[in-house]
Amino acid sequence: MAHGNRRQAPGTSGIGSGGGRKSRRAPSPVPGGPSTTRSCGLPASLSPGVSLYEQLFRHHSAVMLLVDAETGCIIEANPAASAFYGYPDGALCGMTIHAISTLPGDEQARRLADLRAGRLTRFVSRHRLASGEVREIEAHAVPVRLFERVLLYTIIHDITDRTRAEEALRRSEQHLEMVMDGAGIGSFNWHAVTDEVGCDTRWGEVLGLGRVECAPMMESWRALVHPDDLPGLERSRRRHLSGFSPRYETEYRVRGADGAWRWIQETGRVVERAGDGLPLRVAGIVRDVSARRRAEEDRRRLFSLSPDLMCVGGMDGYLREMNPAWQDVLGWSKEELLDRPWVSLVHPEDRAATMQGMDLLRERGVITNAENRYLCRDGSWRWIAWNFAFVPEQGLIYGVGRDVTAPRRMVEELRASETRLRALAATVPGVVLQWREAPGDRRFTYVSPRSRETLGLDPELLLRDWRTLPVHPADRTVWELSLRDAAERRGDWMFEGRLVLPGGEVRWWRGEARPVHADGPDGLPDRRAGAFAGCPDLPAGGPELPAGCSELPDGCVDGPGIVYCGIITDTTEHREAQERLRQLATTDGLTGLANRRRFLEALEHEVQRHRRYGTPLALVSIDVDRFKRVNDTWGHAVGDEVLCALAAICRAEVRDVDTVGRIGGEEFAVLLPDTAPEEAMAVAERLRVSVQAAPLLTAAGPLSVTLSLGVAATPPCDGADELLREADRALYRAKAGGRNRVEWAAEPSGDLPGGLSGELSGARETGDAADSLLTIP
Ligand code: GH3
Ligand code: MG
Ligand code: MG
Repeated sequence: MAHGNRRQAPGTSGIGSGGGRKSRRAPSPVPGGPSTTRSCGLPASLSPGVSLYEQLFRHHSAVMLLVDAETGCIIEANPAASAFYGYPDGALCGMTIHAISTLPGDEQARRLADLRAGRLTRFVSRHRLASGEVREIEAHAVPVRLFERVLLYTIIHDITDRTRAEEALRRSEQHLEMVMDGAGIGSFNWHAVTDEVGCDTRWGEVLGLGRVECAPMMESWRALVHPDDLPGLERSRRRHLSGFSPRYETEYRVRGADGAWRWIQETGRVVERAGDGLPLRVAGIVRDVSARRRAEEDRRRLFSLSPDLMCVGGMDGYLREMNPAWQDVLGWSKEELLDRPWVSLVHPEDRAATMQGMDLLRERGVITNAENRYLCRDGSWRWIAWNFAFVPEQGLIYGVGRDVTAPRRMVEELRASETRLRALAATVPGVVLQWREAPGDRRFTYVSPRSRETLGLDPELLLRDWRTLPVHPADRTVWELSLRDAAERRGDWMFEGRLVLPGGEVRWWRGEARPVHADGPDGLPDRRAGAFAGCPDLPAGGPELPAGCSELPDGCVDGPGIVYCGIITDTTEHREAQERLRQLATTDGLTGLANRRRFLEALEHEVQRHRRYGTPLALVSIDVDRFKRVNDTWGHAVGDEVLCALAAICRAEVRDVDTVGRIGGEEFAVLLPDTAPEEAMAVAERLRVSVQAAPLLTAAGPLSVTLSLGVAATPPCDGADELLREADRALYRAKAGGRNRVEWAAEPSGDLPGGLSGELSGARETGDAADSLLTIP
C-alpha cells in the first residue's frame, strides 16, 4: 500500500542476533509512553533461534508490532512500523498501545483481553501517528506465548484511503439511491445471453407490478408491453445492441397489476460485451412518465381541438408545427404550409408591418394582438390577430392566431351603418329624438342636428334640458299626459300639437316614438317583429343607440327607465292642405256656400245643441221661382251668375252664425240657430224682399228673380228630418200659393207664432205676367 512505502525507512529493530546490541540498548524515552522494555519485565533480546522470523519481521514491508497482551506494551516494532508511525527507529519499543490507539482505556483493556484469549484476531481501529494525524488501520493480531508471557503478534494495514473511498462510495450510492427513489426510477440489468433481468425493488413498482422478488425473464417483461408499442421498444433496443446508438431511450405502455396502462420511459446502455463484441449485459433505468404523457396528450388535444391557429415556427421563416385549425381556417394542408415560408401567405400590404413585428418580437420576446391578412387556398384573405412568444434558447416562435375576419367585417359594417344612420338622421324631414323616461326624470339622449333648422333650437340645448322644447302652452298638459300614458303602458307614443318657434311662429307638429329599451326585469313587451320590421336580428334590449347618442351616466335616473326613439315632424302644411280639402269637400263650388253635406252636418249639430240646451232653431228652405226660364232665356252661364248673386244676397242678409247652403240646383236653405219661429219668418221675408228688389247683375244685364220660401222651426218641429220635411212642405205651399212668398210650416189654420197667417206675405203670382222674367232695364 502506498503508506507502507511512503513511511518505510531503512533501519533495524532490536529483534535478532545482530540486534542483540539493539535490544540491549535502553529504549529512547517516549513522552507519555512506558519507559523501557525492562519495565515490561522481558528479556533484553529474543532468542537467536528466531532469527528467520527476525529477518522476516525486520524486512517485511507490512507494519508489525509485538505487543504485550497484558500491559499493551510494545515489545518490538519493525522499521515499517517506525516509518508508518513516524517515530525514530526503536522509539516505539517501550511505548504502550494506549499511546497510539485512540480507543478509550477501558475499551482498549477489553480488546486486549479478547485478543489475548483468541476471541478477537482482527479489528479495525484508529491510530495516532507521531505527527498527531489519525489513520484508520486494520489489525490482525495473534497471541504468541513467549517468555511465559502472551505477546500479540500484530500486523497493521493502513486502510484510511480505502475507508475514505468506501465512505465516499457509500455516500454516493446513498445519494443515487435517494435520487432514484425520489425520481421513481427503477434500474435493471438485462443479461442478453440468458435473457434474465436483474432489477431493484423500484423496477417492479415503476412498472406497476409491486415488489418483484425474483429476477424476471425478458420474455415476461415483453408480455406486459402494449402490443402497439412493443415493436418500437424492440426496434429501439435492437438498434442499440447492434451498435447504432450510444444508448437507447424509448417510451411505451405496460399493463400493471391493477390492469391499468402506464407510460414507461426506458433508457439503457450495453455495459458489458464479449470479446467478439457480442453484448452481454445491458444496464438501464425505467421511469413512470404517465403524468407527463397525460399532460402532453391534454396539450396535444387542446392543440388539435383549438379553433385558434396555433403554430411553432423557426427563425428560418418556416413553420415547424401547426394545428388543424390552420387547414380549417385557411384551407392549406399541413404539407403545403410546411413547404413555404409563412410570410409568403401574408398579404403584400401587411408584409412590411409583419416583418417589423418579428423584429420587435425578437427584441421583446412577446407581441400581442398583431393583425395581418393571410391568404386562403381559395384565394380569399382572412384577418388573423396574433399573439407571439419568442424563445431564444430554442430559436423558436410560438404563435396563437384568431380569425377576426368576421368581427372586423362587423365593425366595418357597423361603421358604415353608423354613417348611414347619421346621414339618415340628418336628412329625415323631422327631428329624430331619443329620450329616457323615468319616474321624475326625463332626458333627451339624442337630438338630430336638424332641430337647428326646423325648430331653430340647438340640439345641445335640448340635450341639456328637455323643457326647452317649445310646446305651445295650450298643448302642454296634453303633451305631458301623452308621454306619461305611453310610459305607463310601455307602449308607443303619439302626439299632435303646436310648437312655438323662437320667432313666435306657431307650427303644428306630430311626435311619434317607440320604446326601444326598458330597465328592469320586465323589460318591454316582445314585439320586435312588428316594431322593427325590416331591421333583422336586433340585439336583445333594443337596437344600438343612433349615432351621436350618449348613454345617460349611471345613477342619474331613479327607478326603471324607458328609452324612447322617435321623430317629430312638422304637420302645419299637411294640416292646411287637409283644411283646404275639407273646405273643398264641404263648399259648393259655384256659390261658395256650404254644400248640401256641410249644411246637413251643421243642421245635425244645431239640432243636437237644441236638444241639449233647448235653444230654438229655425230652417228656411228656398227655391228660385221659374228658374228654368232663366236658363232657357239667357243660357246656363247666366243662370249660374244668377245663382251666385242670390247666394251673395242670402249671405249678406243673415248673421255669421247662420249657415246658408246650396241644397240643390237652384234650391237654397238657411239654418238659423237660436232663432225663434217669428224671427225666422222675418228673416225669410227679408230675404224674399231683398231678392225681389235686387237687380242681379249678369252678363245678360241686370235680371230680377223671386224666391219661394218655407220656414220650419223648433218647436214645434224636433229633429233635422222633421225640420227639413216641414220646411219643404212650407216651400211647396209657397209655390202652390203663387210663388214669391214665404210660408210657415204649419197648416194655415195652425198656430203660427206671432199671429202670422199661413200665407205670410208676398205678391201672388198672377198669370203670364207673373210667370215672365223681370228684366230691369
Ligand atoms: P218653379 O221652381 O218655380 O216651379 O219653376 P222652376 O223653373 O224653377 O222649376 P224647377 O225648380 O223644377 O227647375 C229648376 C231648374 O234649375 C232646372 C235646371 O235647369 C235649373 N238648374 C238647376 N241647377 C242649375 C245650375 O246649377 N245652374 C243653372 N244655370 N241652372 C240650374
Ligand atoms: Mg227647384
Ligand atoms: Mg224653381
